[in-house]
Amino acid sequence: MQHQINGIALPNEQGFFGEYGGQFIPPHLKEAMDKINVAYEEIRHTPEFQNELSDLFSNYVGRPSPLFHAKRLSEQLGGAQIYLKREDLNHTGAHKINHCLGEALLAKYMGKKKVIAETGAGQHGVALATACALVGIPCEIHMGQVDIEKEHPNVVKMKILGAHLVSVTRGTATLKDAVDSAFEEYLKDPKNFIYAIGSVVGPHPFPKMVRDFQSIIGNEIKEQTHHRFGKNPDYVVACVGGGSNAIGAFTAFLNDSDVKLVGVEPAGHGLETHMHSATLTLGKPSQIHGMACYVLENEAGEPLPVHSIASGLDYPGVGPQHSFLKDLGRVEYSTATDQECLDAFMTLSRVEGIVPALESSHAVAWAIREAPKLSKETMIVVNLSGRGDKDSDYVAEKLKL
Ligand SMILES: *Cc1c(COP(=O)(O)O)cnc(C)c1O
Repeated sequence: MQHQINGIALPNEQGFFGEYGGQFIPPHLKEAMDKINVAYEEIRHTPEFQNELSDLFSNYVGRPSPLFHAKRLSEQLGGAQIYLKREDLNHTGAHKINHCLGEALLAKYMGKKKVIAETGAGQHGVALATACALVGIPCEIHMGQVDIEKEHPNVVKMKILGAHLVSVTRGTATLKDAVDSAFEEYLKDPKNFIYAIGSVVGPHPFPKMVRDFQSIIGNEIKEQTHHRFGKNPDYVVACVGGGSNAIGAFTAFLNDSDVKLVGVEPAGHGLETHMHSATLTLGKPSQIHGMACYVLENEAGEPLPVHSIASGLDYPGVGPQHSFLKDLGRVEYSTATDQECLDAFMTLSRVEGIVPALESSHAVAWAIREAPKLSKETMIVVNLSGRGDKDSDYVAEKLKL
């Protein structure tokens, strides 16, 4: 029921969410992806897999994550009541561990010998290296040399966790080149290797699988608000990069018309500049990384360089399900600028003693902007996708603290 809307399955058998998603990849890769899908559909319903994953969610990640009433912030704003879904309190400090554990467990159940992935800023790499250490599967992370130099703490963490780090020097030596390099390695032996994508993007079945693993967030929000208030929240708000934390928070509510769902994209230096990453707001339907979705691209159909103060949000594509939900009008996609995000980062830190990730600060910024316009009885749940430890040095330097 959660996985359909207006009677449309999300996704259909071919991995389409309306006209988005699918598998725009060469035949040998399609074959490998189809095998992952078949194995996933078989394994996900077994009690062994479900019990092992739910035990790890409770006793390793620390779920359910709390739903915290940000009372002082709500009072200061003088409007809606703001609640924070504390994914920042998860082991490793963000929501990414939810799908990395799912992917690592799936690899184990499929008998894979190695998990391969790319990472940009290193967040996905660290979460995956963590999950692989726990499950006991070798993990190989491809990362651009430029990013390796920028993201020292995450690079060190991946090494400590036992991941094999591959430095990618080709091209611009950043995320896109790391994706190419990781896919090449994967294709050397798709039977024994598995590729672990870091968001609800890429070819089918990844947008579906990652969505399923993340949907625990919204399921918990629903249980928590029903238990405490006997009803749904009025709004659920989340930042959107690839879209995994947002779809995780939204899925339980897709068919509840009383709940407004809001995804917040990075407006960077402003939507009128080229320094943003607001794919759903300003992009158009196209293809990237093996899927059909909204893309920010130039007239030649090449992805545009994108910008956000939050490195986890600067992606020129976006999950196919979000693309579909935008066209359907079920989710409203809004934006917050770098400046609004910085302000929200500092406000939440100083008013509630919670230092949010710069990614999550976009969703907080939306709540700070909109709450004053809403009644005191209105309940906004903001998905606080991660903690801001990783961003603290950068912010302190930027604001000369
Ligand atoms: C990676 C990341 C994001 C962006 O990814 P989505 O797939 O859009 O959720 C958001 N918040 C945090 C804390 C992240 O690490």
